[in-house]
Amino acid sequence: MFPVGVRLPPSAPPPAATRGGLTRRAYSTDRGTIARRLFSPVQELSVSRLFVPHEMLVRYDQAGPRYTSYPTAPQWTETFAAREFRAEIERTNQQANPPPLALYTHIPFCESMCFYCGCNIIISGDTDHADPYAAHLFREAEWYQALMAKGRQVVQWHIGGGSPTFMRPDQLDRLLAGFRARFPFAPDAELSMEVDPRITSTGHLDVLKANGFNRVSMGIQDFDAEVQKTVNRIQPYELTRDFMAACRARGFNELNVDLIYGLPKQTPESFLPTVEKIISLDPARIALFNYAHVPWMRPFQRRFDEHDIPGGDAKVTILTNTIEQFTAAGYRYIGMDHFAKPDDELSRAQEDHTLHRNFMGYTTKANTDLYGIGVSSISEVGDCYAQNTRKLSAYTHTVEAGEWPTMRGIRLSADDKLRKRVISDLLVNLVVDKAKVEEEFAIAFDTYFAAALEKLKEPQADALIEIDATHLRVTELGRVFIRNLAMPFDAYLGQQADGAKPMYSRTV
Ligand code: SF4
Repeated sequence: MFPVGVRLPPSAPPPAATRGGLTRRAYSTDRGTIARRLFSPVQELSVSRLFVPHEMLVRYDQAGPRYTSYPTAPQWTETFAAREFRAEIERTNQQANPPPLALYTHIPFCESMCFYCGCNIIISGDTDHADPYAAHLFREAEWYQALMAKGRQVVQWHIGGGSPTFMRPDQLDRLLAGFRARFPFAPDAELSMEVDPRITSTGHLDVLKANGFNRVSMGIQDFDAEVQKTVNRIQPYELTRDFMAACRARGFNELNVDLIYGLPKQTPESFLPTVEKIISLDPARIALFNYAHVPWMRPFQRRFDEHDIPGGDAKVTILTNTIEQFTAAGYRYIGMDHFAKPDDELSRAQEDHTLHRNFMGYTTKANTDLYGIGVSSISEVGDCYAQNTRKLSAYTHTVEAGEWPTMRGIRLSADDKLRKRVISDLLVNLVVDKAKVEEEFAIAFDTYFAAALEKLKEPQADALIEIDATHLRVTELGRVFIRNLAMPFDAYLGQQADGAKPMYSRTV
């Protein structure tokens, strides 16, 4: 057995120096010196050291969904039509107490292609695309607006892409004003936008601030120059540092950063300094995504050599090192792939088991209906998921013809809703309370999920999950394999025809 896992230095604390109220420790290792900031010595003691045996990696490394939805997108069908989706919007707005709303707006344009990208994007250098696209967004927004019950408010709005700051500041200002004129926003609504530090100006930030935005989320992925060159995304540390300072100077204190592990040319050694630099930049939240290599779906991923992608052992070492670095610096590990400061509302929600996850990420906004506006956007309304058409030309023509641009979707069955709830509890709050599920869905948990519990015997024996008479609890080690722990509850897995292209990326 070849053990891999955390390779950070042993826990004997070296001399500490104090800086800015935090304790800074310098560690000498065979990889050089690693400096760590700790919020308190107690925090250091609470850091778990995860060791993942190689043979365990081999057993659990398989293709599997990320479960941003259940049922997952490959189960959605084109027979679910715009008419059915519109009827669900009407039904949910006629309920006695409709839930609050979340909005997602998709801006598909980017100036250049990052080769790892899995988003639905259009490469262009012509900002003139933005105005006609915004006009189509407004038209679609008005169809939702016409169906909305009086008094219903938007509590969360996220603008993603693509690169929303592909738009010039004046275009962005018109877009934001247009949405604010069409939807009623709650006074404390969370308004956030993805920003690419390479193409975001202080003018963009001023527009966001003037329109009430309180959170910006920026892609970084990896500061290593070799990795950046390989994935065609040159974004020096200094540029990002200065950009974050510009955000803070305008009062944006809620800064999120995205990292990706598993990128080509990444190694456990090379990723350590990236994480240290991120810690020094002090973001409120960090997303650490597992790179999804799906070149049959994203041909740009063929632009680098597959052999440069780190193998399962190296990826897990990067992951476990990173968990240790961030938790040692005082961040809480949230759900599947996020970190947040202890006083962040996501951390508090995880403690209370009230954390939620939708297509925009982790949220404390419970039970919202999500209206996704724009090309390829996904909506989650009542008992349905629906996705807009993914091609810009088709989106444009459909909206111009006065039709909803729904491409596919699904209406959840009673079984889907039950499994969605269990998978969500596992992935988000890391615990399933059997009694609560039994009460809500009128089932006997152990009987209904006998097959799933049988499949979980192996992970249980591997100490990935604890199962007793009342609860299922994901262990610290189990978080590394959390997608594998959700898969036994997925009723659709294994239904793919032999010889078909894989639908999902690797779980490890
Ligand atoms: S900027 Fe973001 S959306 Fe655009 S190609 Fe790069 S990763 Fe994809």
